[in-house]
Amino acid sequence: MTISATYVPSDNVSQLRESATIAVSQRARALKAQGRPIIDLGAGEPDFDTPPFIRRAASRALEEGATRYTAVEGILPLREVIAERANREYAGSDPVTPQDVVVTTGSKQALFNACFTLFGSEDEVLVPTPAWTSYYEMVELARANAVPVRGAPSHGFKVTAEDLLRHTTERTRGVILNSPCNPTGAVYTAAELGELVQLAEERQWWLISDEIYGRIAYDGAAAGVLSLARARDHLVIVDGMAKAWAMTGWRIGWAIAPAAVARTLTALQSHTTSNATTVAQHAALAALREWEASEREITRMVAEYRRRRDAAMELLRSRPAPAVVRPDGAFYLFIDVGATAPPGSGAGTAFATRLLEEHGVAVVPGAAFRTPDWIRLSYAAALADVVEGVRRVLALWRSLTAERGSVRPDGATGG
Ligand code: GLU
Repeated sequence: MTISATYVPSDNVSQLRESATIAVSQRARALKAQGRPIIDLGAGEPDFDTPPFIRRAASRALEEGATRYTAVEGILPLREVIAERANREYAGSDPVTPQDVVVTTGSKQALFNACFTLFGSEDEVLVPTPAWTSYYEMVELARANAVPVRGAPSHGFKVTAEDLLRHTTERTRGVILNSPCNPTGAVYTAAELGELVQLAEERQWWLISDEIYGRIAYDGAAAGVLSLARARDHLVIVDGMAKAWAMTGWRIGWAIAPAAVARTLTALQSHTTSNATTVAQHAALAALREWEASEREITRMVAEYRRRRDAAMELLRSRPAPAVVRPDGAFYLFIDVGATAPPGSGAGTAFATRLLEEHGVAVVPGAAFRTPDWIRLSYAAALADVVEGVRRVLALWRSLTAERGSVRPDGATGG
């Protein structure tokens, strides 16, 4: 006799949606496996291999026996070097110590654990929007409410203190900042970011700053929140190895938080995953200690991203073309495809589906970032693929807008 049980998801996950960024990569992979020549501009994953000096350090560590548990919060030398680098930026009176650092399984875990330990029922968390898909879900898994705050598209969707204040209630507990931004590539200037840091300080909000793209900026390093804050008692800085060091698969991230928060993050981690993978921690340690070698590699990769960005932006300057946020960091192009479908119909999803299924290019629909009329294209791919992908985006956009008559002869979009 077979007993069939109907699966009813628990309250914890009844509202959960799977990650759209991950789903696009999986769909692209599945189509490739069927033999279709797909240009994958979906995933936000560097197409470079992890630099050899880091891989060699990992091999050595493995040979030397780095195979056992470590402290839940990570090995001390790694936390020391993270603290030391943070203090080069931070001029407040409470320097970062290794006790304030928790090494996590990717920066995703640091973000989730921070949301889970800082926010709870009925709390409201401001999320400058568009934002990375998982912030909204993480806040909601903590049973708090994510409150999207939209900046002006003409300003790269960057929010101002006024924008945040317009969405503030007595339940506002925090804000999640991300500069350079995924999905727009916008970078906050020090002045713009400073204004938000000051507001969070005044209001005693928790400020979670996701700085994972901090090293991938085209006009010098992007300002980090630590360089602008006077105190750290309400700050959680999240960073990691995935993007700048091309170490996505190693899953090493970290949080820098006030010591009491760091202790709770560690306690939570002690019941879920324990330490981040030991050998990967040693790889990260080598990368952060051998800073000059890291600088050389990062400079090389960022120069390549810049070349791709410039080539893509050059194509998008031809007319008519959709509006695009000028990316000064990260490796994304955020493109307005609203004119390709009736208003309110979620143009980005229809566009991305057609682009993948009929034209073989994977991008992420803007709905994932709570901006349904847009799409995100990742240029962490070979230059030829980026150029061909953007050409196909343009061709599809032009044919759909011509069908609808939604682009004026001067190239401006309407309707
Ligand atoms: N963060 C990257 C992206 O946005 C990787 C996938 C993910 O973890 O969301 O594509």
